[in-house]
Amino acid sequence: MQQQIHTLQKQFDSELTKVSHIADLEAIRLKYLGKKGAIQDLMKALRDVQGDERATVGKWINDLKTHVTSITDSLHTSLVEREAAVRLSQEDIDVTLPGRVRHVGCRHIVTKILDEMLDILMGMGFSVQYGPDIDSDYYNFEALNFAPDHPARDMQDTFYVGEDMLLRTHTSNIQARVMEASKPPIRIAAPGKAYRNETITARSHVFFHQVEVFYVDKGVNFADCQATMKDFLSKLFHSKVETRFRPSYFPFVEPGMEVDINCINCNGKGCSLCKHTGWLEIAGAGMVHPAVLKNGDIDPEIYSGFAWGMGVERLILLKHGVKDIRLFTENDMRFLRQFAPL
Ligand SMILES: [Zn+2]
Repeated sequence: MQQQIHTLQKQFDSELTKVSHIADLEAIRLKYLGKKGAIQDLMKALRDVQGDERATVGKWINDLKTHVTSITDSLHTSLVEREAAVRLSQEDIDVTLPGRVRHVGCRHIVTKILDEMLDILMGMGFSVQYGPDIDSDYYNFEALNFAPDHPARDMQDTFYVGEDMLLRTHTSNIQARVMEASKPPIRIAAPGKAYRNETITARSHVFFHQVEVFYVDKGVNFADCQATMKDFLSKLFHSKVETRFRPSYFPFVEPGMEVDINCINCNGKGCSLCKHTGWLEIAGAGMVHPAVLKNGDIDPEIYSGFAWGMGVERLILLKHGVKDIRLFTENDMRFLRQFAPL
């Protein structure tokens, strides 16, 4: 048996000199060390060896096993290293180059300001309501007291998508729907996109974001409207703002007002942002027109309400001194990154 073991070791040593790949080495390892390998056969034959000789033969087999294991292991390590080196040289990778930079995303400035506005309004007791971007002429115009010949219905201002359907021109379609579905007190903030068929310039776009605030209850008056707006704007600009209400006309409110704030850039002294007037136009507002309440099945003799709306992009123009409204939708990272948190 000693001869047999000796021959096997010689055979292993000679076969090993021909190995150049990991796969060849694995085949040899299985041939000698596998469950059905040569060394396992020797172990089986050991059972037939009698007496003291068994211990001696057992040691020879173990020595052979140690020899085979240590040589295949060390050869495996060096083959792995060699194959990796060959692969690297072929792949032509410069492992000293720095890794790729991961860019961390953040909310778009419009979303960020919109969220801020809604947070403030929710804190003031308004619930957020959404409505469809594509709506009927009824909810966008008729229910809101727009006469059939009102200029805003003109094809130049409105995108029609069918006989009676259109892209809403304001988020006020939501107030019409909410009145239909619920009874006063109604206290909602209605955010979303509004669409106008206008020429795209630095100051106007075919769509923009709007937040409308709408409050109907018994005894709501114009002082409530002014106070709520002033409170909201002071929270939004993190400072006490002065407001100025100028009479204006919107079909769904009576009286209607344009709302100005004292210029946040020059504090009312006059600068290029406020065109040296000291005031910035920021919102449209007014008391809900009785006809609008009636359309929503609410008795204007018992209830009254106010509504005001403001454009989100316009607020950002004023707050951050952005000169061109088109920048918000062009996805230019140099512009957007300015608003990313540090
Ligand atoms: Zn100014």
